[in-house]
Formats: sequence, structure tokens, C-alpha cells
Amino acid sequence: MGKQSKLLFEQAKKYIPGGVNSPVRAGKSVGIDPPFIAEAQGALIRDVDGIEYIDYVGSWGPMILGHAHPQVVAAIKERTARGTSYGAPTELEVRMAEMIVDMVPSIEMVRMVNSGTEATMSAIRLARGYTGRKKIVKFDGCYHGHADSLLVSAGSGVATLGIPGSPGVPEDLARHTISLPFNEIQAVDQAFDKYGPEIACIIVEPIPGNMGVVIPDKSFLKRLREVTGQYGALLIFDEVISGFRVAPGGAQEIYGVLPDLTCLGKIIGGGLPVGAYGGRKEIMLRMAPEGEIYQAGTLSGNPLAMAAGLATLNILRQGDLYPELEEKGNTLFSGLEAAARDAGVRVVVNRIGSMGTLFFTDKPVSDFATAKVSSEKLFKIYYNTMLEQGIYLAPSPFEATFISAAHTREMIEKTIESASIAFRGMLNCDTLAS
Ligand SMILES: *Cc1c(COP(=O)(O)O)cnc(C)c1O
Repeated sequence: MGKQSKLLFEQAKKYIPGGVNSPVRAGKSVGIDPPFIAEAQGALIRDVDGIEYIDYVGSWGPMILGHAHPQVVAAIKERTARGTSYGAPTELEVRMAEMIVDMVPSIEMVRMVNSGTEATMSAIRLARGYTGRKKIVKFDGCYHGHADSLLVSAGSGVATLGIPGSPGVPEDLARHTISLPFNEIQAVDQAFDKYGPEIACIIVEPIPGNMGVVIPDKSFLKRLREVTGQYGALLIFDEVISGFRVAPGGAQEIYGVLPDLTCLGKIIGGGLPVGAYGGRKEIMLRMAPEGEIYQAGTLSGNPLAMAAGLATLNILRQGDLYPELEEKGNTLFSGLEAAARDAGVRVVVNRIGSMGTLFFTDKPVSDFATAKVSSEKLFKIYYNTMLEQGIYLAPSPFEATFISAAHTREMIEKTIESASIAFRGMLNCDTLAS
């Protein structure tokens, strides 16, 4: 790592736990000290030592247009001079709500919040308030932000009652969370057989991106819709990553399965702190001040965030970026796969559009258990070799690689060449022989 980054990390660790404001950034699992970023433009990101990288993190999802997109920058600038927060309704919020309702098939009404965590936390509260039930169902390896009820990562097994995934989460709360293996209809049916009338909702990433990218079976998503309907529970799609990423209307548009509530974040803020939850009108009207379920926010619907988000969604709504993103995604991941094959390294690629993950395993990855088989040792080599060559990836084997509209063919080719070098460097690694 460069000198300036090292120095800043030392200073950061004095005043910030672990030196970072979100744990994954520290790069602990790949054995690095993180580069400190000075600026970014398009698909390129530059650290404080002037080292430039091709960025595949994209702020963990939001930067689908690339960094500092001129229309987004102009929209933020234009608003800033007119005041940055009023704590009162604005026209921008109406336009944003209209835009979301227009783009996301199942949303009739929406409430803006400040992060994905707030969106999922509020959607769970709404589901519990609406149904008058306590239990929630989630899936192993899905991440829904850090709200207490959702931090449970119970071990595999059908209808395992949650144990706290983090100290500080009361067991009294965690025991209401049931965590099941993704893509397994039987596990879901068994949980509903046993606890059906107590279950308020299922919350799911319809296309998981937080155990690495996993592709859902369409029949699985359909079954979630059926079983929740049957038992009067709500179906919540957490589309904080997949929303506006895989299609203008997210995963629900692609798979044709409509949830009761949808959580949004990341792209919707165009790089500013935003989240949203929305869904059927009859359910959303239960929120205060119309209804009795409470949720609020001093900065919710913030004008700068709405301006950045609207500028981003305006471009995405036109739809013509998606075929381009699909092509770039295909070029990158088929290139990586071929390079691995040439080097004799076994990999599995899961990809949809511009998000994908390379797993170091030879078995299909369809849930958390199969994702965890991926070799962390090989990933560490991959990550470090890529970073040395100026390729900036998420420092974890369980994350997505994100491509933006600003990535060029040349950048993608350089990335594949760099990966070739990384894969060849693995040949001496004994894990390969196992
Ligand atoms: C990132 C993420 C969240 C949490 O969003 P924050 O803005 O980080 O709070 C929730 N759900 C999913 C699927 C995510 O990827």
C-alpha cells in the first residue's frame, strides 16, 4: 500500500474502531491495509498516493453510471446552492415517488429513508404491525442491513430458530427470526407448516448479492409468493442491490414475481445516502401519519439525495443501458472463466447482467452452504494480485463484482489479463490439488 494510505490508516485506527466506518472496508480477510480514496471519475478510482485502479466495487453497488457522472454532479450542484435540508416536503420527493412507482412493478406507494438498513428495518416493522405477528423468515447468507432482527445468521437446517449473530442482539428478539437455506422450497414449506400463523413475513434478496451472487430458481421465488399468500404473511423483496441494477424494475420485473413490499437503496441515491421501502397502498397506508405504525427521519427525502437519485433514475429509466451492461458483464465474466480454465484453476461464475461473482470451487453455487466451499486462500491470492495490478475488487469472496456504464472494453480486457496472471500464480498453491 502507498505511504499516504498507510499513514492515514494509522491515524484512522486511533479515532475510529478498526479505522473504518463500515467493517468490510478494512480488508482484514484479504490481509491488506485499505487504500484511502482521494477521488473517482467514471470507472477509475484514485487513492491518496495517486495510484489509480479500475473500480469494480462501485461503492458496493450504487455507482451504476460510474463516478461523478456529469448529470448527477450537475443535479447536486444545482440543489446545493438552494439549501441542503429543510425538514419539510419538497417537489423533488413527489417526483422521486412517482418515478419509483412508475419503474418498480409492485410499488404503489413509497417512503424515503436514509439507508438500506433503515428500509429493511422499517419494512419488517410494517409487516409485523400489519399482520400482528412476530416471526420473520430470512435466508442464510442474505444480508439485509444491520437491524437487530436481521443480523441472525442461524446455521443451516430447517426452521432453525435464530440465535444472535452478534453480541448486543437480545436473544428474545433473535428467536423470532427463522433463517433457512436459499433456493430450498422444502425448507420454506416445513417452516410454514410449523409456524405459519405466527409468521409476519418472508424477507429475501430475490437475487442474493451478499453471499456472492446467487441465481434464484424461479420456482423458488414463486413458491415464496404462494406460501406467504396462503398464510396471510407478507413477502418482502430486499432489492437494495438488485433494484435498478438488473433491470429498470429490478428482480421482480425479470422473474415476474410481485412482492407485497420492496426495499430499495444504493442506486436509488445515485451515490448519496438513501433508502426506500414501498409496496401495496393498503399496506403502506398503515404508516404514520396516515396509520399508526411509526417511522420517521430528520433527513429523509433530503433534497440533495433526491436530486442525485432522480438524475440517476432518469437515465436508467430509458432502459438502453441494460443491454450494454449485459454485454460488458458477459465479456468480463466469460473472459475470467476462460482465463481460469486456461490456467487450470477451477472456478464457478454466477452472473446476472452487470453483477457477478467468481467462486473458487468446481461445484455449482446455489446457496450459502455451497458459496462457503469457495476457497478463501485462492481468493486472497486473486484479490492481492489484482490489486497490485490496479484492479479494485471487493475485499471478500462473498461480494459481487459490479460493472458500470463507464467501464470500457479496454478496461475489461486489462482486467482479464490481470486475472490470467493471478490464476497462473495459483498453480503453486496446494489448495488447487485438493
Ligand atoms: C447494502 C444492503 C443493505 C443495507 O443497506 P445500507 O445502505 O448499507 O444500510 C440491505 N440489503 C441489501 C440486499 C444490501 O445489499
